[in-house]
Parts: sequence; C-alpha cells; structure tokens
Amino acid sequence: MSSSVALRLPSIDGLLRHPACAPLAERYGRDSLLTGLRQLLDELRPGVLSGQLAAVEIGPEVLAGRVGERLAQQQRSQVRRVFNLTGTVLHTNLGRALLPEEAIEAVQMAARYPLNLEFDLASGKRGDRDDLIEGLIRELTGAEAVTVVNNNAAAVLLTLNSLGARKEGIISRGELIEIGGAFRIPDIMARAGVRLHEVGTTNRTHARDYQAAISPRSGLIMRVHASNYSIEGFTARVPTAELAELAHAHGLPLLEDLGSGSLLDLTRWGLPAEPTVRQALLDGADIVTFSGDKLLGGPQAGLIVGRKELIAKIKKNPLKRALRVDKLTLAALEAVLSLYRDPDRLAERLPSLRLLTRPQAEIFAQAARLQPLLADVLGEVWQVSAVEALGMIGSGSQPVARLPSAALCCRPQVSKRWRGRYLLNLEAALRGLPIPVLGRIADDALWLDLRQLDDEPGWLAQLPQLQVDR
Ligand SMILES: *Cc1c(COP(=O)(O)O)cnc(C)c1O
Repeated sequence: MSSSVALRLPSIDGLLRHPACAPLAERYGRDSLLTGLRQLLDELRPGVLSGQLAAVEIGPEVLAGRVGERLAQQQRSQVRRVFNLTGTVLHTNLGRALLPEEAIEAVQMAARYPLNLEFDLASGKRGDRDDLIEGLIRELTGAEAVTVVNNNAAAVLLTLNSLGARKEGIISRGELIEIGGAFRIPDIMARAGVRLHEVGTTNRTHARDYQAAISPRSGLIMRVHASNYSIEGFTARVPTAELAELAHAHGLPLLEDLGSGSLLDLTRWGLPAEPTVRQALLDGADIVTFSGDKLLGGPQAGLIVGRKELIAKIKKNPLKRALRVDKLTLAALEAVLSLYRDPDRLAERLPSLRLLTRPQAEIFAQAARLQPLLADVLGEVWQVSAVEALGMIGSGSQPVARLPSAALCCRPQVSKRWRGRYLLNLEAALRGLPIPVLGRIADDALWLDLRQLDDEPGWLAQLPQLQVDR
C-alpha cells in the first residue's frame, strides 16, 4: 500500500521564520531570500506532486542550504581574477597590462575624492583633462601635444576623421591589417570618412608608389606598424623619415599607428626592439597613435601625440567627447608615465616590464619547485614535468618573437584516443578553481607557463581543491 499522507512543501512564511533562514535574510536581504525561496519551491513542486521527492529532500534546513548556495553564487562578482599561465603576457582577453601600485593608489584617490579633472588650480578657471599628462608626454616622447582617448582603436578613428575626412588616405597594401575584435584598417578608414587609397603590394611598397598616389584629393599618408604578423622574405618598405619628407613636400600629414608604441628602447632589457614613439616623431611622423595598456604597461587608453596644430584640430572634433577617457584612467596613466622618468627602476616598478623580463632560470626554478606538488595532486595518470617553454609578449607586440620561459607540462598517461578528453577535463577543472587557472593545450599536453605566477602561495592554496573528471 502506498503512503496515504501526501508530502507537502513547507510554506514560505514558515521557512522565513525558520532559524536556518534567518542568517540568509541578514546576509542577502529579505527580498532576495524571498525570491530565492519562491523559485526553489516552484521548481520542487512538480517533484513533490508526482511523488518523486522524499521528505528529507524538502526539509527546511535542506531548502535553506540550497537557497544559501544560490544566493552566494548570485552575489559572486562576474568580473573575476584569474591566473594567466597562458604564456602570453599582455593577453587582450585577460585584461592586458597589470597596473603598478602607484597607479592603483592614484585610481583609488580618483575614485574616492573630487579632483581637478577639468579645473586649472593655478588660474581657478576651467581646465582641460589632457593637460594633466601633457607635460609628461612631452618630456617622454618629444611630442608637442597630446590627447587621450578610450583606446588605440579610438585614437586611430578620431585622428583619421579629424585630419582626413572626405579626402583620400594613402596607405601601403602591406599595412591594411586586421587586429583582433574586428578592427580592420580599411573599415576604420571608411567609418572615419576617409577614402582608402592603397598603394604598392602586400610584400613591397616603394616611395614611387606613394608619390604616384598623391593628388589634390589626398588628405594624409598613413603608416601602420605590423603588430600581429610579419612579412618576411622579399620585402620593401619606405623608411618613416623618407615617407615623412614626401608627405611634407606635398603638405600632407603623416600618421603613424604604432600599436604598442614603446616609450623606451626595450633592447636595454633584452627584449626585442620595438619602435619608440620618440623615434617615430624624430623621423618626421606628424601624429603617432599607440595603446596605454600594451607595452606602455598602463590602463586601457589610446594616446594621440604629435604636432600642436594637428592635435588642436583633433581635440575640436565632436567625436573626441564621445571617445575621451575618464578620471580613473587619467589618474592611472599619469602614475604609470611618471615611472618612466626613472628608467633604471622601471623594470622593478612596472609589473608588465618586470614580468616580461623575468629571467628564464628563475621561472624554471619555480617550475621545478612546484612540479612535485602539482604531480601529487594530479595523481599517477598525469606526468607532470618542469620544462623550458616559449611565451609571447602578446597584444600584437613582436608577433614572431618568443620569450624564453618555463612551464609545468602536464601529459595524460593514457592512450592517444583518450588524451584529448583528459586534457579538456584538466583544463576545465583548472578553470573551475576559485581563482581560475588558465593555461594552454598544445602537443598533447597542458602547459602552465609560470612567467606570470607571482602569487605562488595563492595558487598553491587552492590546489587541493582541484578535481579532475576522468
Ligand atoms: C593593438 C593595436 C590597435 C588597437 O589598439 P587597442 O588599444 O586595442 O584599441 C591599433 N593598431 C595597432 C597597430 C595595434 O597594434
């Protein structure tokens, strides 16, 4: 005989009064708790009616526990810290550069207090937000003037629109690039109202190609730094100085989109040479655009530097208002730029440069230290080894250059048929940790490049929670 007493869900009122729910109301608010309980009871009702649920599954403590888990989950921020062990230092999908302490403090100050964002403290009159960093930029790059916008894509768009709208923009076919996230030079030009006049060929463009393209319709000559690809072999490209001379002979401005645009010669830290902003200006570029959060190591921003009258024209464009940066960005940017005044200590103080220049031997020693600990957690199905590895700068800087690094290389000791599944499961388990750990799968192994593992204790502390599905 089946049970004649029908199972019933507890009432909302009863649950709200239950001692197991009181701390939840305190913690998440009565409204959120009420909504959570209603949803849960609605979900359970069919199971209760059909008799599939047992009494123990709908007791007040159990329900309170389940609602508590959901509320905690809901409250967890969607913006989360991760461990970037991908081997790509300035990873666009992982937020690029990490800010130095000086910039973090500046951001806190700007967030917490009113500030002189557009107020000239000397005269007591209205000021201009770009003025806050103009002195530094002039000192560090030799530029006459600067204006800052949301990112380098915005910098390119605004510059093209301000200086070349309804005219032709002359650019080499070898520089019509696409940067991730649908940023394509031809499309940006079109949106900026500049008519594209491409010259030369993919691998070779000569001064005579530019020369032949110049006409009364021309508005500017543009040069784009090859950020995320390299053309090798039978190539030719006109040096900036020569191109600038040609542009100026015809009264045209030369724009150079440097992308990463380093402020200092990185070879002094053993990194691959990257053109500096100062050199591009010295070579005769009239406007140079570059990112704040690539090699510069600052916040997301686009810097437009160069000749005073051109910058003035760019600042008058109504689009500038739509693309300008906020106070937090400016505060961070000023703090980062200030560090460049002391290049000798830059690699200690600027996290991106410190990480980019970590010696391979040091990273390898770290890998050797962590290898037995990870091997222990993963068990005998996995062969974990400390190995040399090659990373990258990222964000399109030096696409072919590799950074000698070291990694924990995890290989599943299973037949080839199962390897892919094991690797994906390990990858998912690492991603599921409280602070997700992101590595990369290559050559039948999962690689955790340790160049960027600064917080070793934090990483180790969560290892015991790693649970890999088979
Ligand atoms: C990265 C890059 C951009 C876009 O810069 P964001 O800061 O990502 O907007 C534009 N041009 C070049 C050459 C780049 O390398």
